Amino acid sequence: MQTIDKFNFANKKAFVRVDFNVPLDENFNITDDTRIRAALPTLKKILSDGGSVIIGSHLGRPKGVTDKFSLKHILNHVSKLLGVDVQFAGDCIGEEAGLKAAALKPGEALLLENLRFYAEEEGKPRGLAEDASDEEKKEAKKAVKESQKGFTKKLASYADCYVNDAFGTAHRAHASTALIAAYFDINHKMFGYLMEKEVKAVEKILNDIARPFTAIMGGSKVSSKIEIIENLLNKVDNLIVTGGMTYTFTKALGGKIGNSICEDDKLDLALELLQKAKDKGVNLVLAVDTKIADSFSNDAKTAFAEVNEIPDGWEGLDIGPKTEAIYAEVIKKSKTILWNGPTGVFEFENFTHGSRAVGEAIVEATKEGAFSLVGGGDSVACVNKFRLADGVSYVSTGGGALLEAIEGKVLPGIEAIRGF
Ligand code: AMP
Repeated sequence: MQTIDKFNFANKKAFVRVDFNVPLDENFNITDDTRIRAALPTLKKILSDGGSVIIGSHLGRPKGVTDKFSLKHILNHVSKLLGVDVQFAGDCIGEEAGLKAAALKPGEALLLENLRFYAEEEGKPRGLAEDASDEEKKEAKKAVKESQKGFTKKLASYADCYVNDAFGTAHRAHASTALIAAYFDINHKMFGYLMEKEVKAVEKILNDIARPFTAIMGGSKVSSKIEIIENLLNKVDNLIVTGGMTYTFTKALGGKIGNSICEDDKLDLALELLQKAKDKGVNLVLAVDTKIADSFSNDAKTAFAEVNEIPDGWEGLDIGPKTEAIYAEVIKKSKTILWNGPTGVFEFENFTHGSRAVGEAIVEATKEGAFSLVGGGDSVACVNKFRLADGVSYVSTGGGALLEAIEGKVLPGIEAIRGF
């Protein structure tokens, strides 16, 4: 497999798929440029070798050409960070893009307009009438898949080599994230530095496990984490199931949960997971106490309660101190740690304590030599909010992509480059 370090980009044009899907405020100012910064090492390496870059990205979820989602809004900032006057093509596959890409000289960069302005990027039909028949849907899908080939080929035609540095979209078989790779031979397609780091971190969690291995899965719903929880039960020694999911388990076990968030149709599933954990010898750790509130608000009245004795009218919005201590003890003894999802409604300042405690315990374990991977939007927001990112081994940029990789799925963006 080709690697970015070994490849000499001198006089080569590289199509680099990045994830510049950054948040913008109403005046189109970037409110968090982490994703742009994360791709800089790759872009800079290519330019400093004497290559040129054609940068492709999506921004938001446009359903067609939409000014709000134009990448022109981020052009100046990309130029500033990259230290190069980046050119812009206002249509990713138009004549302008082709001419500008062809005219690029060593050390120059071109940013293409939002790839998702075209339905062909995702390969999903758009504009179908709500009452479209199954036959019409099938035809529309066939048509977009057909035109996707031309779209992909056009993007590939700009460059001599393809670099994928967009881990956040690696779980999608889109034109620019996976299909385009087919137009380059094995020596002319590679991961960017960010993608390499992400893939290595996931592989360490999947294949190179120092034990004990503890996963902390938080978040609101069991239903959205079921596959990953089941997969983790085959790998971990300890599984801390926390956050809003707690109360589905508590209720399934016969506890009183007041108004706490609960998926009533997942009670049996919760019991099944507990049984599976038992059968596999996994220590599934649940909260014993909780910080309750009399309404879903930062300013609610609060108290602590046993997790299975929440009074009517109250709801659990974070873990309590006894649970924090139990989690911390498990975490600090661990040698491999995966954290996805907060222990409570960390968006409310008064319910951040548990998530902070988990983060701090992970930092301590990491100091003692554990490998810790934090991933999935909300846990990344947590470590950033608590300024703990420097104390963990790796903070993933991937949300869905990371979870799918850990579920054991082959990600199309990875497979397209290395073949498995
Ligand atoms: P997820 O998107 O599934 O990872 O869930 C993250 C969300 O779960 C965050 O927005 C949290 O506010 C929310 N959450 C965590 N704990 C609770 C809880 N006890 N009650 C309601 N929401 C929660």
